[in-house]
Amino acid sequence: MHVMIRSRATAIVNARVFDGTRLRDWTSVRFAGGIITDCAAGPTAQDGDEVIDAEGGTILPGLIDSHIHLVPGALAQGLTFGVTTALDMFSRADVMAAAKQQAGARSDVADVRSAGIGATAPGGHPSMMYAPFPTLTGPEQAGQFVADRVAEGSDYLKIFGPSGTTGPWTMPSLDLDTITALTKAAHGRGLVVVAHVNSVAGVREVVSAGIDVVAHVPVDGDLDTALAGRIAEAGIAVGPTLATIENVLGEPGGAAYSRAEENVGRLVDAGVTILAGTDAPNPGTVFGASLHRELELLGRCGIAPAQALNAATAAPARVFNLADRGHTAPGQRADLMLVSGDPLTDITATRAIERIWRAGVLCDRRAFVANAAEAEELDAFDARVAKVVAAVRERRYGFDPTKAAGRLQATGARDHLAGEVKHLVEAREQCEGVHERLVRTGLGEAL
Ligand SMILES: [Zn+2]
Repeated sequence: MHVMIRSRATAIVNARVFDGTRLRDWTSVRFAGGIITDCAAGPTAQDGDEVIDAEGGTILPGLIDSHIHLVPGALAQGLTFGVTTALDMFSRADVMAAAKQQAGARSDVADVRSAGIGATAPGGHPSMMYAPFPTLTGPEQAGQFVADRVAEGSDYLKIFGPSGTTGPWTMPSLDLDTITALTKAAHGRGLVVVAHVNSVAGVREVVSAGIDVVAHVPVDGDLDTALAGRIAEAGIAVGPTLATIENVLGEPGGAAYSRAEENVGRLVDAGVTILAGTDAPNPGTVFGASLHRELELLGRCGIAPAQALNAATAAPARVFNLADRGHTAPGQRADLMLVSGDPLTDITATRAIERIWRAGVLCDRRAFVANAAEAEELDAFDARVAKVVAAVRERRYGFDPTKAAGRLQATGARDHLAGEVKHLVEAREQCEGVHERLVRTGLGEAL
């Protein structure tokens, strides 16, 4: 016999209520069976309800981190900081399946959606993380690639976009025809398409491919008003991931990082939808906690607190078709966060967390303890990131004319030797020029 234990309904009173877009005149929110039943300016509590006095604190929809990478423990840690839904932007299929199984079975972890494996060219970022890594070489393979991801359970498609740079150090990347074909194939199956791009030229290219979301904001140049306008017109959302960029480029205030904030500012001025995402667990980030930092950094780009909160609630819910969440409203999942301050005047008040509910279940924040196995997995993730960094370094700075000359001699290509060595020396000098530039901007440390 199956015994159903119904938990009591909960009514939060004496609250300010942010609905995902703006502050309402409501003071009370009631939920039962994991669903919000009432929001009102007057009392919503019914007989037998558990009543929680918010003492003037603010109720927000549970936060959505629209850019993470799954490792064990990610979802539990995220929920501890108010992230009730995490959007994974590239993970191995087995990791994605395990996380989804966990999110479906447990209420002490964030819910999750995932891109699974992202599309890239052979040898392109981030295919060096592990082998075998499915890649594609042309538009004719797009349909099969998308079908394979759907079969594995991907909820949307992640594409690693063009690098936007040329020269001997450039990583292989998908061409525009292939990106366009992937986008069509994904849209044909109802999948949202996210493109990882980290250059202005790359952004310019993918905008015409029909993609839905740009991940990261470029720092190699200015996103001019015209380009920002095209992004807005195309209805493309941008998830800048400043919480990771600030770690890669150094402290806010540095020239390269300032450019990231300026570019976000131009996107906002153009009316582009902004999504809050951390790119955790990249170096310097913490699941969940870094989303509060992301909100603060978005604020520094001239985004008002209500819009920053929207970027972590209703906006990602709309962009990723999560119709049941992202809003404080009757009929929505009771994914809620109660904070003691007023994040609509001071965005850092999101950190003053009083309570978190995930589908109506109260999160026991003190219960979260990272275990040794999770720490080990995080180390493994770091090792995979290190492989990517090493591959980029090898590409950009690894040219060794002496070794290359030796190889050419061994293959008997003596006639071409002189010319080849000259070319390699030039390539290396070019690379060193780039390296110096990167060091000056602080990027040299990261790559
Ligand atoms: Zn990422």
